Parts: sequence; C-alpha cells; structure tokens
Amino acid sequence: MNILVVEDERNLADAICKILEDAGYHTEVAYDGATGYRFATSGAYDAMILDIMLPGKDGMEIVRDLRHGGDSTPVMLLTARTATSDKVGGLDAGADDYMTKPFENEELLARVRALTRRSGDLMLDEAKFGDLVLDLTTHDLACGERSAHLSSKEFEVMRTLMMSPTRVLSKQDLLTRVWGSDAEATENSVEAYISFLRKKIHYLHSGVQITTLRMLGYRLEDLGHVR
Ligand code: CA
Repeated sequence: MNILVVEDERNLADAICKILEDAGYHTEVAYDGATGYRFATSGAYDAMILDIMLPGKDGMEIVRDLRHGGDSTPVMLLTARTATSDKVGGLDAGADDYMTKPFENEELLARVRALTRRSGDLMLDEAKFGDLVLDLTTHDLACGERSAHLSSKEFEVMRTLMMSPTRVLSKQDLLTRVWGSDAEATENSVEAYISFLRKKIHYLHSGVQITTLRMLGYRLEDLGHVR
C-alpha cells in the first residue's frame, strides 16, 4: 500500500510517515500543496492524507481538482480546525474522511485502514494485466502455470506499472515511487530493475511486455499472444 502524505509541518509529516511505515505502508511525502498535487496526479496511490492549510495549494483545492480530473483515490483531510464548515467543505470537495489534529497513532492507523478498505479493488490480493497475475502477498508473478518470485524492488516496480497500465511512467516517476528518498538510487537502478523484470516476464512466456517509449518512460503492453 502506497500512501501520499502532504503536510507542511515537517515534523508532523515525518511522524505520520513513520507511523505508517512502521505499520507496513509505503509512504511518500510532500511539504507543500503544489508539490503534493504534482505527486498526487502522477502517482498510483492507494490513499492520500492531505493537510488543509498548505502553502501553494490547499488540501481542499487538491482534492477538488483530483475529483474533477476523475481521480477517485481515497483522501483523508487533516486540519487543526474543528469548525463544522471546514468538515462539510472538505467532504463536499470530495474527501472521504476528515481527521482533526492532534490525533493518536491508533486513530490514524484505524482511519487509514478504513480509507483503503473503501476502495474496493485495491484490497484485492492480486493485480492483473493481460495474462500476468501479481500476487500482492507472496510477490509471485504468474502467467498460467509458470511463476517467478520477485525481489522487493522488482515487485514495487511491477506493481507500480500494473497499477497504472495505460500511463507512461518516467524513470523519475519510478524512482520517486519505488525508491522514495533513497539518495543512492539513480535512473540506472530503474533500468536495471526493468531489465530484471523483462527477463522474468520472458521466462513466464507472457504476452505482456514492458515497452520503452523513447525519452518518456515505460508502459505495459499486452501483445495478446504468447511469445
Ligand atoms: Ca498546515
């Protein structure tokens, strides 16, 4: 599960990420609204936690624009304010839930569990594309009778590609989503893992391929026949 956290109070943002990471979620963080919105629109997230009062673009504007763009990713708004008008405004803008700061760790986790449960297909234990099935629990990638185990980074790259199969993902997108703030990772790391995955997909005799779009990035394509 990949969760986007947008909060300009860095200590709080980092604390939220730590709580979520400790509970087994993968997180990405943005400290202002404009960056948060850019991440939100380029990302494959299972849920987003957005502060309302943000520099650049506030949380309510972010969720409103996402919904206008057809993005239905579950969103929880955070705010220190308790005014009912804010709550109603946030829910009207298209947020799924609302949490007032400060909060207990347990409340955050319970709400995130509820939030991610709401989004039907995201709770499935597998992702599918063409003839490929990725088991989200065991990290096995299967095609018919054949299967291959994916390392944790291979799994994250494959899962990211499968979650947005029609979108071209740049190397930078994959770096951000899979490696996050790991400063050691470079675009070469992305290329290496794409190459590992291609070998495994080839071994599986799948009709799916990871296509390189020059200067743009990668996308899954279903060629619809077994090679
Ligand atoms: Ca704030």
